[in-house]
Amino acid sequence: MTEVRVRFAPSPTGYFHVGGARTALFNWALAEQTGGRFILRIEDTDAARNRPEWTEGIISALSWIGISGTHPAFEGPYFQSAFEPQHREAVAKLLAGGLAYYCDCTREALEARTGSEHKGYDGHCRDRGLTSGAVRFRTPDEGVTVVDDVIRGRVEFPNNAQDDFVIARSDGSPLYVLANAVDDITQGITHVLRGEEHLSNAAKQQLLWPALGATPPVWAHLPVIVNEQRKKLSKRRDKVALEAYRAEGYLPEAMVNYLMLLGWGPGGDREIMPWSEMVPLFKLENINSASAFFDEKKLRAFNAEYIRMLPLETFEERCLPFLDPEWDVETFSRVAPLAQTRISVLSEITQYVDFLFLKEPVFDQASWDKAMKNAPVEILGDYLERLEAVSWDPESLKQMLEEVGAAHGLKLAKAQAPVRVAVMGRAVGLPLFESLEVLGRERTIDRIRAALSRLRG
Ligand code: GLU
Repeated sequence: MTEVRVRFAPSPTGYFHVGGARTALFNWALAEQTGGRFILRIEDTDAARNRPEWTEGIISALSWIGISGTHPAFEGPYFQSAFEPQHREAVAKLLAGGLAYYCDCTREALEARTGSEHKGYDGHCRDRGLTSGAVRFRTPDEGVTVVDDVIRGRVEFPNNAQDDFVIARSDGSPLYVLANAVDDITQGITHVLRGEEHLSNAAKQQLLWPALGATPPVWAHLPVIVNEQRKKLSKRRDKVALEAYRAEGYLPEAMVNYLMLLGWGPGGDREIMPWSEMVPLFKLENINSASAFFDEKKLRAFNAEYIRMLPLETFEERCLPFLDPEWDVETFSRVAPLAQTRISVLSEITQYVDFLFLKEPVFDQASWDKAMKNAPVEILGDYLERLEAVSWDPESLKQMLEEVGAAHGLKLAKAQAPVRVAVMGRAVGLPLFESLEVLGRERTIDRIRAALSRLRG
């Protein structure tokens, strides 16, 4: 069997999109499973919209999700702009073979003939034998062009609805649809896996490949990704930049796992599955054609699971970029296991542990108002009085608060709230008594005292 050669062909015109990451991963899975090649081709022919930093962003994002240039399956990056000579050559070949022709129709002239701006090209220059102008591909007039798509089945495009489309501008510069086919052919691509929005290009490319002497690839157009309102994910509306998820503290393992489920699934009811187990199960035939819902809540839940699965030491390391470098790492280590079971994204770590490092906690007003309203000031006062003498361990600290609460007719949960807000600033956080143990007697006393004076105004 011939080697499977897939490609990922992003245009570097913006932040790398989660949809792009999904396409890349599906390609990567197929390459890895078959021992094939994954070619990264940067489609940079739209010079006005490309920027080198977008290319760098793509490469760094790919490597974050495990698609790395150091892997033996990885080939490239190639830059489409570097292959312009081949694109021009292909145009020349099509012209020479009569499969394409020059056209000098202006839009106005065409509209005047067809009477509408929405009608397609009328074939006016087909047999005029011009020797300059834009170049159009001669499409068949009858029958259908069939794109045999592994995911969508047989997709038919009636040829009478297909224009003689332009493949090169009158200045000779080749168009994208042509460049894409030529590169795929030159790079020996066997399978084209890409977003559904390219299906209409596939109709053209299905015609171009044989015209250029090649057998069309296996097509697989991946389902569109939609948001909660079932609208296609868009960079204007939705959080789509992979970088935004990375910055928020999503783990690449979780991201990869979740993205693989956008249109595909390993079968059975297991969804949390590491890459290495998914690869052998991956099958183009099992990709769904229905749109895939990008559910950020579910992704977040995945991420929380992946965080819990990390060895403690790895968890601590992954948290470091989210912590103030001034903060003492050893103190952090003491509470890290408590935080690991509570956070969903790594950036949340800050609000869980900052009370240990800041001079005074960051007060969340709503937490403060609620906690202080439901428990009498006396709780704090009584607790404070006994803190000097108590043995400084979670069990004793807890027992003592239980007693203080009981004296005021409050259950532990209610009695805890004002203490928690006084020392941590927020209603939600790490377990209180373990936190007090790490915070230490002196600082705990100071904070409760400060809270009391705030309350007494
Ligand atoms: N450059 C195209 C894009 O970024 C991809 C085209 C293709 O995969 O064929 O959408």
